[in-house]
Amino acid sequence: MSEKNKKNAWLSYSESETEAVMQFAEGYRQFISENKTERECVASVIKKAESLGFRNLCEMDCVKAGDAVYYNMMGKALALFRIGTKPLSEGMKILGAHIDSPRLDLKQNPLYEDTEIALFDTHYYGGVKKYQWVAQPMAIHGVVVKTDGTVVPVVIGEAEDEPVVGISDLLIHLAADQLQKKAANVIEGEDLNVTVASIPLSTEEKDAVKANVLKILKERYGMEEEDFSSAELEVVPAGKAKNYGIDTSMIIGYGQDDRVCAYTSAEALFDCTQTDRTAVCLLVDKEEIGSVGATGMHSRFFENCVAELLARMGEESELALRRALQNSHMLSSDVSAAFDPNYASVFEKKNAAYFGKGLVFNKYTGSRGKSGSNDANPEFYAAIRRALDLHNVAYQTAELGKVDQGGGGTIAYIMANYGMNVIDSGVAVQNMHAPWEVTSKADIYEAYLGYLAFLREI
Ligand code: MN
Ligand code: MN
Repeated sequence: MSEKNKKNAWLSYSESETEAVMQFAEGYRQFISENKTERECVASVIKKAESLGFRNLCEMDCVKAGDAVYYNMMGKALALFRIGTKPLSEGMKILGAHIDSPRLDLKQNPLYEDTEIALFDTHYYGGVKKYQWVAQPMAIHGVVVKTDGTVVPVVIGEAEDEPVVGISDLLIHLAADQLQKKAANVIEGEDLNVTVASIPLSTEEKDAVKANVLKILKERYGMEEEDFSSAELEVVPAGKAKNYGIDTSMIIGYGQDDRVCAYTSAEALFDCTQTDRTAVCLLVDKEEIGSVGATGMHSRFFENCVAELLARMGEESELALRRALQNSHMLSSDVSAAFDPNYASVFEKKNAAYFGKGLVFNKYTGSRGKSGSNDANPEFYAAIRRALDLHNVAYQTAELGKVDQGGGGTIAYIMANYGMNVIDSGVAVQNMHAPWEVTSKADIYEAYLGYLAFLREI
């Protein structure tokens, strides 16, 4: 057990350590304020990686020990590698996290007008309590791709002087019937329609407000209505993440599941400048909808990417690829449910994650008898405990709630298919999947230290 583990991590910090915790959290707060889609996260991490000397693997003919490279998968998933001194076939040390978050996606045919109000129809992405997403300022982030191949980035609703959009909710005065409904049906999925505009275009007879919206979009983004069909536009909470609690010990912000693990993993890889076995940070898309699609963890892009790497390192064989994957060790990082005194009954107190107790490890996830869980090997977790104790990292173990209360999945079991050692780890979050999620700055910092210890010792 590390010294920090004997009490709340905050009590173990010196003044300068507290300063380091706050400073690290500030970098993170800015990251999640500016990056609210998987594409924005990938672009931002690549920008920082390049500034630190990382190069695009696809533009390199050979790769050697000491090199830092990245592999950009369609702009929505990313693998960063610090090439070690040992052959790749001896395995890698992988930090994995996901960069997609629950949100409302615009439908392919989203724009319509009703009683001189223009609205966007949406389809929610990931698991959301729909009633949480109404009556608050929202922004639109994404891209519109035109038939000539031009990719037009869109961000509406983030700058101080920019308008926001939002979804209306029924006034309490007329909600007598609505309030009798079950929470799951108070707001129906098909009613998550975003209010976009209300000024009619004077030259139009029919759907004049919609026509005005199309005019504005044409002027700003050069797009036509049909271009919505080849767009990825995500409606997300507008505004920056903020310090939370009057002691500023926490952060409230959108998309902390799982960008809190993605940011800390990438920072740890950036700061691990020397390594024996190759160190990897893997940031994937689509976890919230089952890790599907070409940029999700079920896709073989990572395996392909390791094959590309081997080819550039003179180890090109199917066997070397198999060995590189099977001999690897991975922290599959995703957020854990932070114990919430307001909802104590769903937790089992001995096996819950707490704010201020550090990086969380889940030997297993799943639900209904560990179903679908990776269930990590104790030998692997013991080696991790040793590494964390050596570097005095605060850490804890937890399950996602009481047995048979619910459960969740991550990407761990998918990577375990290669026969590698994988364990779930991450940061405790309150309000998970709500528009505004909460984390502890001590846990964010300890996650970073824990990832660094993993890269140095495993
Ligand atoms: Mn999630
Ligand atoms: Mn997650």
